[in-house]
Amino acid sequence: MIHFVGAGPGAEDLITVRGADLLAKADLVIYAGSLVNSGLLDRYCRKGARVLDSSRMTLEEVLDQMRAAEAAGLETVRLHTGDPSLYGAIREQMDALDREGMAYDLTPGVSSFGAAAAALGAEYTLPGVSQTVIITRAAGRTPVPAGEGLRDLARHGSTMVLFLSASLLDQVQEELLAGGYAPATPAALVYKASWPDQRVVRCTVGTLAAAGHEAGVSRTALVTVGGFLEGGYDRSWLYNPSFETGYRKAREAPEDQTGDMHGRA
Ligand code: SAH
Repeated sequence: MIHFVGAGPGAEDLITVRGADLLAKADLVIYAGSLVNSGLLDRYCRKGARVLDSSRMTLEEVLDQMRAAEAAGLETVRLHTGDPSLYGAIREQMDALDREGMAYDLTPGVSSFGAAAAALGAEYTLPGVSQTVIITRAAGRTPVPAGEGLRDLARHGSTMVLFLSASLLDQVQEELLAGGYAPATPAALVYKASWPDQRVVRCTVGTLAAAGHEAGVSRTALVTVGGFLEGGYDRSWLYNPSFETGYRKAREAPEDQTGDMHGRA
């Protein structure tokens, strides 16, 4: 059987328990070597497991390996970085396996966008600031469909997390400004979230490109944008004493609905 597994964002202990168990049982592991921490392989794979780095392989070569392993009755783990459902190119693999009648399952992982929020000490969805997270990428060699350009998405003014865009910071900054984010809107680059060499570069939309160039960040980073990166938001209703939920009766009228909240620069 073939198991697609999310490796998590980098730290060896941020893979799920299920993912680690599957790695421990695998005869063949095909991992995305450009981003998956090889420490995961040393830590969880059994001795004697065959390990292949897919960054040097084509889709056809990956499928050839899976096919051969299936024919031999082996267990295969296809290890993708973060959560496989985001920019993982798993659909084309699953469709090919479906066509050939090969069984597979999926184990989710901690995406780098969660690890980036942890690195920032931030919550993406602050009441009164943004209740929406746009996960997207800048158009580079891979184009984005009409209507999904950064300029169009920026119009919402919501929290935004950009994957695969750290090498395009000049273009990103220009598009975000053209779409309507004020130059002073806070932004942050998170490089290698959860890895030992993780770095956070805080800036604004207006200084994004310069900050990234100065820090030398051009890959393995997320660009995060929005008011969630600074102080000021409303208190949540969920934990408000005046608010009744299926689990708790209302107790009192609150004095102040606005949680003032620590400014985080
Ligand atoms: N499926 C992955 C994303 C793969 S696309 C996930 O869920 O995280 C590869 C891009 O993800 C990189 O170009 C970078 O933008 C981002 N990325 C992956 N790991 C990262 C990390 N640890 N820190 C910051 N960005 C990361």
